[in-house]
Amino acid sequence: MLCIFEHLYFRMIALEKKVSLKTWNSFGVDVFTDFFAVFRSPEELDEILNLFDIARNPFLVIGEGNNLLFTGDFAGLVLHPGVEGIRILEEEGDTVIVSAGAGENWDHFVKYCVEKNWCGLENLSLIPGSVGSAPIQNIGAYGVELRDRMEYLEAYDLEEKRRVVLQNADCGFGYRTSIFKEPSAGRYIITRVVFRLTRKPDFRLDYGEVRALFEKRSRHTAEDLRQTIIDIRRSKLPETDQYGNAGSFFKNPVVANPVFKCIEANYREVPHYPAGENMVKIPAAWLIEQAGWKGKRIGNVGTWPFQPLVIVNYGGAAGKEIYEFSERIREDVETKFGIALEREVQVL
Ligand SMILES: Cc1cc2nc3c(=O)[nH]c(=O)nc-3n(C[C@H](O)[C@H](O)[C@H](O)COP(=O)(O)OP(=O)(O)OC[C@H]3O[C@@H](n4cnc5c(N)ncnc54)[C@H](O)[C@@H]3O)c2cc1C
Repeated sequence: MLCIFEHLYFRMIALEKKVSLKTWNSFGVDVFTDFFAVFRSPEELDEILNLFDIARNPFLVIGEGNNLLFTGDFAGLVLHPGVEGIRILEEEGDTVIVSAGAGENWDHFVKYCVEKNWCGLENLSLIPGSVGSAPIQNIGAYGVELRDRMEYLEAYDLEEKRRVVLQNADCGFGYRTSIFKEPSAGRYIITRVVFRLTRKPDFRLDYGEVRALFEKRSRHTAEDLRQTIIDIRRSKLPETDQYGNAGSFFKNPVVANPVFKCIEANYREVPHYPAGENMVKIPAAWLIEQAGWKGKRIGNVGTWPFQPLVIVNYGGAAGKEIYEFSERIREDVETKFGIALEREVQVL
């Protein structure tokens, strides 16, 4: 039972009841939440926390819903951080320390920085979502991760019931992970993220086709690198407003060298990358393709023909259908290669 007051307004905070989450998840799954509230400042968040007993009731923070799969309605409170604002905190030499509210759209923030020639985030262009969600899985693309550019973040600590500042080193960042996933899932609500950027570009080009495409361009500015990344992404990934999806459904598995050697003995062409001492990363897309799932479709769910790591809702699929489809892929990959794929998407 939810311990919540029946009235819907508390000062300026609206607590809406029975809200559809269809536009709040990029799979476009049609589910409802019991309660929905937006906060626009840490003070508004305090007010909501006074009103809603978060320790005793289910709650979920949704940025823009690009990494979530709902398999049913949510019986609790969905909180959306709407904290806005991009500000320079400090400038010294070529270094610019910039802060962005959790509710800013990630790509809007990247574009803003690139236009000001504050460099460092270009490779992370066009990743869907909000600034506040970016640290959760340490977003990464084309050789750059959030942890390479983040200085610190501000959050509300639900355990200690106070606002805190977490430095980069406190966040336990790893490949598509952080303490916000494990071991402190649900403990912090991020309100602002601060980045260390530079006016002196140090472009990261050594990933896939980035260098070749960037060098073909007539200019070589941060804006050109951003456009190169956008062009690559658009050629590979479906647009979420046309085809519901959450980007990569699974993480690329990192396996011990002997496991890799066993696979290589049967598949000499297996793509792979070093991933620390005696560890090897294998692209999940390749494993899925080898297991026969590239471009496969069952009813309204399928893998994207150009990138089998992306599972697509071709229209009207229920969350459970998408989940079951993903489980069949997982089973087949495990049967064929003995590798258990780990989900990148959070299933609820
Ligand atoms: C087409 C497509 C391409 C993608 N490409 C990439 C890619 O290249 N690289 C990559 O890393 N990811 C990628 N993703 C995944 C996704 O963009 C990221 O995970 C992004 O950070 C999700 O942002 P969001 O605001 O939509 O988060 P949501 O889906 O709303 O939330 C994700 C998680 O963060 C939590 N959360 C959200 N905001 C807060 C907050 N303020 N405080 C505490 N917890 C919070 C949520 O509870 C949830 O657990 C892609 C997704 C799509 C759809």
